[in-house]
Amino acid sequence: MAGELILIVEDNEKNRKLERDILQFHGYRTVEAETGEDGVALAQVTPPALILMDIQLPGMSGIDALRVLRADERTRGIPVIAVTASAMTQDRQKIMSAGFDAYQAKPIDVNQFVAAVRAMLTRPPAGGGAA
Ligand code: MN
Repeated sequence: MAGELILIVEDNEKNRKLERDILQFHGYRTVEAETGEDGVALAQVTPPALILMDIQLPGMSGIDALRVLRADERTRGIPVIAVTASAMTQDRQKIMSAGFDAYQAKPIDVNQFVAAVRAMLTRPPAGGGAA
């Protein structure tokens, strides 16, 4: 199961390093972008198995980046987890209604974070397969 490529889109260096360290410790490969624009471009060129998307980014927000990913056939099927400090209930609802597959609050809880990544990567592909 290990070795899948995960794209981290996060402008904060400490958060990026934390996510990278956790994922690499668990055997995943990582690629990183500091902006939504760069994250979308990377995902289009080399589609990852999963994207971890910060919401508050310089320039394009994580929500806008998700819209671009979902509108592009190369990237629309990639699961995207929102990773954000917006812990208020209404923000969470806004984020989930934007179409993210899951939500992780910052500061990151390592066990929850790993569990969410595993759940996304082992989930059956959308729209396919036998019951
Ligand atoms: Mn940010």
